[in-house]
Amino acid sequence: MNAEIVMIGTELLLGQIVDTNAAYMGRVLAEHGIGLYHKTTVGDNRARIAKVLESALGRADAVLTSGGLGPTEDDLTREAVSDVFGRPLEFRQDAYNALAARFVRMRRPITENNRKQALAPAGATPIPNPNGTAPGLICGDERGEVICMPGVPRELYAMLEESVIPHLREKHGLKGGLYHRVLKVCGIGESWVDAQMGDLMARLENPTIGVLASPEWVRIRITARADTEEEARARISVVENQVRERMPGLIMGVDDETLEGAVDQLLRARGWTFATGETFTGGMIAQRMVANQAAAFAGGLTRTPGDPRWREARALAQQTQSLFASDCALGIATEPLERRLSAILLTPDGEVSWQTSYPAPDELGQLRAAVICMERVRRYLSGYSVE
Ligand code: ATP
Ligand code: MG
Repeated sequence: MNAEIVMIGTELLLGQIVDTNAAYMGRVLAEHGIGLYHKTTVGDNRARIAKVLESALGRADAVLTSGGLGPTEDDLTREAVSDVFGRPLEFRQDAYNALAARFVRMRRPITENNRKQALAPAGATPIPNPNGTAPGLICGDERGEVICMPGVPRELYAMLEESVIPHLREKHGLKGGLYHRVLKVCGIGESWVDAQMGDLMARLENPTIGVLASPEWVRIRITARADTEEEARARISVVENQVRERMPGLIMGVDDETLEGAVDQLLRARGWTFATGETFTGGMIAQRMVANQAAAFAGGLTRTPGDPRWREARALAQQTQSLFASDCALGIATEPLERRLSAILLTPDGEVSWQTSYPAPDELGQLRAAVICMERVRRYLSGYSVE
């Protein structure tokens, strides 16, 4: 089966709110293996909403809407659905009673316009709203179903997961779903990663591979469609091995794993403690090690980049090592005159140093530098070439 989503609200068109509901709905539908090929956003206008719903019904088995179910004048979703199916709005006493009970529980007076929320096209099925007043509704004919949910995110989330998805799975006999695994690569450009895998990406159908870049890492996302999680895992593993073969030693972690977590694990495996002396990155690596509760982390020192005494990474690393009595120490310094960043890692087994071009002195530049340095530490500790 396939679905389509229609996001209702003039606020969305004007950019006054960000459409987080669509992203959420897209994720949930994908997880359940429901195809989604179109999304439409439409303002609070009865005729335009009806038109959008009609064309969506021409393409999809189920049309899911968000927004416009409230009690105010500009909430017009019910009216539009009534127009699309040619069924008049009826006052639903059962829906009104549920609504009134909620107002009593919240000790708020019910107002006349709340009656509007108890209206539904004839023959529609109301969907309970555990987190709010407006019930959702399901209305359909031979073209398919329109399923309306409120715009308030926590109301929509609960309704989608507790009622709408179970309804769709049962009605369309859905089994299984989509499963993902993310492999992360740090300190390497997206285009290089892409080039290593271009043919795999073009050739594979199930699983598929997608590459997503961010300042911190490139994520290689392997997605399998299967009836059971076990089958999906098996399919994903085959492709994961192919990807790993193409970039030996470069996959830094899987799914939620972090760079600092990987470094910590490698250090602990050797029984080494680790300290950081940072000028340019201003303690960013230390902050991450602490946030990750890295057991191998002994402490961090931050020095101002302007001080000529700390332009030399080695001096900084040595000072850090003796201050924290750590087995390993990382020193990061910038040499503004030579426009480069230099770093060194001292370990009981030896040392390794590297240089990079001078990063922009802002938060993004700091993040990039921190990631590059942590990744070099990771590569050194895992026995791969640092370059
Ligand atoms: P209400 O009963 O509150 O009127 P409603 O179903 O009529 O609910 P809207 O009036 O469209 O929904 O939206 C209510 C609020 O929910 C918006 O002001 C906004 O804060 C949030 N919201 C609506 N649509 C979205 C969306 N697509 N993504 C994120 N938030 C949204
Ligand atoms: Mg509203």
